[in-house]
Amino acid sequence: MKCKLCGEEINSKPDSRLILNKYSANYYSCPKCGLYFIDAPTWLDEAYNDVITFKDTGIMMRNKINEIKVSNIIDQNGVMLDYGGGFGIFARMMRDKGYDFRWFDKFAEPLIIKGFEYNDEKVDWITCFECLEHLDDVSGDIDKIFKISHNVIFSTELYDSLSIHTDDSWDYLCLETGQHIAFYSEETMKYLAQKYNTNYYNISGLHVFSEKKYSNLKRIFLKLKIKMQLIINGVSYRYCERDNKNLN
Ligand SMILES: [Zn+2]
Repeated sequence: MKCKLCGEEINSKPDSRLILNKYSANYYSCPKCGLYFIDAPTWLDEAYNDVITFKDTGIMMRNKINEIKVSNIIDQNGVMLDYGGGFGIFARMMRDKGYDFRWFDKFAEPLIIKGFEYNDEKVDWITCFECLEHLDDVSGDIDKIFKISHNVIFSTELYDSLSIHTDDSWDYLCLETGQHIAFYSEETMKYLAQKYNTNYYNISGLHVFSEKKYSNLKRIFLKLKIKMQLIINGVSYRYCERDNKNLN
């Protein structure tokens, strides 16, 4: 088996899990770049049916949190692109704050961001939220993103390399929906920074790739500022989770 990100030959035995209660999935772990991935997901059409995505009650809160974080990390100069931007909620929110955000998503309609679709213009920053873990063509899709800009902000939960092989309780595996098929570690993030000749920082849970260097002091300041603004804005997933339970 070849790694879907770095192409390394993987000889170790895969982990096996059951997806959507019926499909057997093999998870491979790359010793070179730290990617943990499912080799051939055959259930994706079923995984993306409307009923499952309809249960994403945290969608607005997630966008609000990302808006607070990103508007602290990047300034308003230049053009930004929300890659895999879904309905356009985040790009719309950022435009309302004065950022020149554009939108791109090969699977969604720009319901609330029509007229601001990405059109091959020069882009200074890319945001890409909750996409990495859905990628089947990992290296091809990430390549497309870094070709547009080397300043990229991703969100994805990193896995714990000590427990990943034995622990099925990590929510992010999404065994019941089958949508998450690639998982990243800190090592993978560092591999990407090296591959695309840029710097990597974890700032308040976001994976920030930047051509510009951030000092330790600057990062500590940013994290504190973001934490304070999240508290002031009262962000919490409490009611999103309540509604999600009510939908089950
Ligand atoms: Zn690899």
